[in-house]
Amino acid sequence: MNVNQPAPPGVPYGQPQPGYTGFQSNYGGQPGPMIPPSPYGAYNGPMPGYQQLPPPGMPRAPPSSGTPPASTTARVPSGQSAYGQFGQGDVQNGPSSTVQMQRPPVSQPFVPAPVAPLVNQPATFQPYGPPPTSSQLTTQMAGMQISGPPAPPASGLTYGPPPTSMASASGNFPGSNLYSSYPQNLAPPTSLAQPHPGAQTPQHSAPPQASSFPPSAAGGPRPPSIAGPSIPGQNFGGPPVSQSNHASSPPPQAQPPMSGPPGPPPPMHSSQPGYQLQQNGSFGPARGTQPNYGGAYSGAPNFASQPGPPQPPPPKRLDPDSIPSPIQVIEDDRNNRGSEPFVTAARGQVPPLVTTNFLVKDQGNASPRYIRCTSYNIPCTSDMAKQAQVPLAAVIKPLARLPPEEASPYVVDHGEAGPVRCNRCKAYMCPFMQFIEGGRRFQCCFCSCVTEVPPQYFQHLDHTGKRVDFYDRPELSLGSYEFLATVDYCKNNKFPHPPAFIFMIDVSYNAVRSGLVKLLCEELKSLLDFLPREGGAEESAVRVGFVTYNKVLHFYNVKSSLAQPQMMVVSDVADMFVPLLDGFLVNVNESRTVITSLLDQIPEMFADTRETETVFAPVVQAGMEALKAAECPGKLFLFHTSLPIAEAPGKLKNRDDRKLLNTDKEKTLFQPQTGFYQSLAKECVAQGCCVDLFLFPNQYVDVATLGVVPHHTGGSIYKYACFQVESDQERFLSDLRRDVQKDVGFDAVMRVRTSTGIRATDFFGAFYMSNTTDVELAGLDGDKTVTVEFKHDDRLSEDSGALIQCALLYTSCAGQRRLRIHNLSLNCCTQLADLYRNCETDTLINYLAKFAYRGVLSSPVKTVRDALISQCAQILACYRKNCASPSSAGQLILPECMKLLPVYLNCVLKSDVLQPGAEVTTDDRAYVRQLVTSMDVAETNVFFYPRLLPLTKVPVENNAEPPAVRASEERLSKGDVYLLENGLNLFLWVGASVQQSVVQSLFSVPSFSQINSGLSALPVLENPLSKRVRDLIDGFRAQRSRYMKLIVVKQEDKLEMLFKHFLVEDKSLNGGASYVDFLCHMHKEIRQLLS
Ligand SMILES: [Zn+2]
Repeated sequence: MNVNQPAPPGVPYGQPQPGYTGFQSNYGGQPGPMIPPSPYGAYNGPMPGYQQLPPPGMPRAPPSSGTPPASTTARVPSGQSAYGQFGQGDVQNGPSSTVQMQRPPVSQPFVPAPVAPLVNQPATFQPYGPPPTSSQLTTQMAGMQISGPPAPPASGLTYGPPPTSMASASGNFPGSNLYSSYPQNLAPPTSLAQPHPGAQTPQHSAPPQASSFPPSAAGGPRPPSIAGPSIPGQNFGGPPVSQSNHASSPPPQAQPPMSGPPGPPPPMHSSQPGYQLQQNGSFGPARGTQPNYGGAYSGAPNFASQPGPPQPPPPKRLDPDSIPSPIQVIEDDRNNRGSEPFVTAARGQVPPLVTTNFLVKDQGNASPRYIRCTSYNIPCTSDMAKQAQVPLAAVIKPLARLPPEEASPYVVDHGEAGPVRCNRCKAYMCPFMQFIEGGRRFQCCFCSCVTEVPPQYFQHLDHTGKRVDFYDRPELSLGSYEFLATVDYCKNNKFPHPPAFIFMIDVSYNAVRSGLVKLLCEELKSLLDFLPREGGAEESAVRVGFVTYNKVLHFYNVKSSLAQPQMMVVSDVADMFVPLLDGFLVNVNESRTVITSLLDQIPEMFADTRETETVFAPVVQAGMEALKAAECPGKLFLFHTSLPIAEAPGKLKNRDDRKLLNTDKEKTLFQPQTGFYQSLAKECVAQGCCVDLFLFPNQYVDVATLGVVPHHTGGSIYKYACFQVESDQERFLSDLRRDVQKDVGFDAVMRVRTSTGIRATDFFGAFYMSNTTDVELAGLDGDKTVTVEFKHDDRLSEDSGALIQCALLYTSCAGQRRLRIHNLSLNCCTQLADLYRNCETDTLINYLAKFAYRGVLSSPVKTVRDALISQCAQILACYRKNCASPSSAGQLILPECMKLLPVYLNCVLKSDVLQPGAEVTTDDRAYVRQLVTSMDVAETNVFFYPRLLPLTKVPVENNAEPPAVRASEERLSKGDVYLLENGLNLFLWVGASVQQSVVQSLFSVPSFSQINSGLSALPVLENPLSKRVRDLIDGFRAQRSRYMKLIVVKQEDKLEMLFKHFLVEDKSLNGGASYVDFLCHMHKEIRQLLS
């Protein structure tokens, strides 16, 4: 081991580095002028280099016949010689010194660091709105199944995970089955759907279906054909609400012409086709224990923002069982659509719901796992679209993982000629292109331009005009496939090197003291064997590097020829560079001994550190510079604990201020406090440097600012507040393992093309855009979605429909440059009813949530909420006016496909971002806001409306999931145990009267009182119930992209307040309306629009 002095601060390294000139976007990594918008000439624009030959020594296969499985053709330069150009020795940037691995000098006197985890402000649960009126309270209380007083607001209750007393470390490595863990416990329950005369499946070819909700009377079943008096609307006498104050809000403001009163109300109609089931009181699972939902319903939605005049107490009430139930809709779809594969042959087919477990057969359109749309039938004109106000959007997950039963997209190799594309719009060959003139030319389905078929691609047509090789070529017969990209699709016309992973570990006092550093280093020793590899490759092509940091950075040389790792300290963080290249990024197997030695030494070296301050931006810069020097894309795994207050670029100050809540300045809490991080992110994207950020804060770290870098580079952010090894290691390690192992497309550009008449106008997600069309992603993994909104720019035709083609150019984890293509065809309509019949509410909510969550960056949250309500009211009013059968204005009529829009919208409105409770921190909100931005439809669905399963009804004999219940306290039986999950949180709620045998079976204690509240794991017990419940928990976790830590909550325990936050049909403590109240409020809004 060499013994040298620490590098003198700054001096040798202060020289400007070539290619590192401030924060210009230097996409090519070469010194030069500012780069033009797209370096991918062949990808988006004219193709200057299209005919270039590949580098010598790289023979290409002839055009394949199209069906080889992925990754059989490896023709990418391997990375082994890629770094031979750095032959200058160990040090690249001037005379750096190498120091022995030793404890870094203490750079400041000891300051007692915070020892106890800081607790958030005491939660007082002050509702933002007016307190509940007594009549409503009565209503709710009467509906509860729970005796005894509600748990008092627990002061000091934190939003984070509660302290636990049980270590739940799992030594099991997820290993190779991580990606085969597709929902297997999702078998549709078969025995619970109660056949019902009125319960008809939504038929997509049926006439407009409507849902009408007259209030049910005493709750008894009524004949389907008799509608009750129209009550809910009669109760609203309040002034117009929420039509004001959204001038500055981004949502569409155009008020559709809603002129004309809706005709004289005829006698109550029973002719709304298809939706009488509520009137039988059978919506939702049987509620045998809820006989008396008593109390008058006041009818005045107690909206925080609308103190209206007192309402006369009407005697009528809205029975929660009579309003649309998410559970019933989910169950119906599972029963009706879960058994048959979804075949994508036909245009404009609405897929099964995301909550239904189904298989997909690609027959020419992309699977809904890749693309889901708000509607599969688009209005032909923009006027119609404006009238309906239904956003036209696609939620695209280009690299979505598939269940094992479904094949990954085929890889097509067209050799040196590359993919066949339209001459004008550059769309890629796809099933919708029309071959003409005997197959010599093809007409583009997107822009109608006619292009010559390249000679090597020519094929004869059969008598129907179809190419005779139609079924042999994925790009002619399938909705999704990949092309091997030629060198023209690569930066600087050079094939990329395989990516590198750099682990950058905060070794400041907090990180060491919490046990994080030791835990992480120990884990990495084994985790490095599970780096992503392509196909059947024996070892990963990904190289690794290591950096530790506090106020200064320590780089490590782990070259395989060294006996011991060497440390290099860079203390001049103002002008970051990488002090070594050779030996910094290495192959794990070759350098295993040195790496293991390093990971053993790091925790010891910093064990006694007194350094509490950290830098952040220089760490990102260092990682990015290292990738730039190695000329490869890659990912930084940053493990960071605190607000970066040390003197350095990107230094931040604590600006958290809860007094800003509900003011016009609240938006600043979501905005980054400096533009520095956006510039940094832009530079990272140019290098293909994706940043995954693991945060371990004990207090405010400004997620809104630090999160900018992972957000714009397509990375992920994880947050473990008040991290303690004992209670949090399982969650952290699970997330880390999954994150390190997952497949990532690097240095990606996504372009969405559309057929004439519509175009992509807006994009939501974690990415960077430097122009209006190209979505740039330093990295994109199988969990991330990009949501694209479309607008009309011309009239569409019912005959030709509308087409979407999403092309993602990316570098695989083995360094192969590829294009993944997804195609989807949609119908177009001249009747609004067709639009409403082919909508998908889950996707609509996904879009609306993302739209709203972006809106809070520029508008007050109340404005954003009001705009959401207004838009949805217009959507529903337009349906009522144009599509529903005439009926009394007092009747609420919802389109069948949108009958859950009100309940789901209410969940978005009262989510932590839009209506936070006192216990929600500023960082929590920024964190959730960012997570939701790249969620897919399944994730937003369960995030906003959690899944709640009663456990003692679990059929232990098979794998069927128990029937879910609605997320409301009144659905809980105190004699049962429930599991609740929303994709991020997982609770086990134990009723106070649960049978002793159940308590014994699950917890191995004799009584309820002896259950340890706050448990984070169930004991492993050998009995059917215990095993079944633990399997269910494992199944939930396997379906989600983040590990959900279990929290056991006992009824009436103080932790129950945390749990109740997720009972989203109930009025929330922070002023969010109950489902019933909100539905009435929506009805009122709709009536105002119609009158
Ligand atoms: Zn074209």
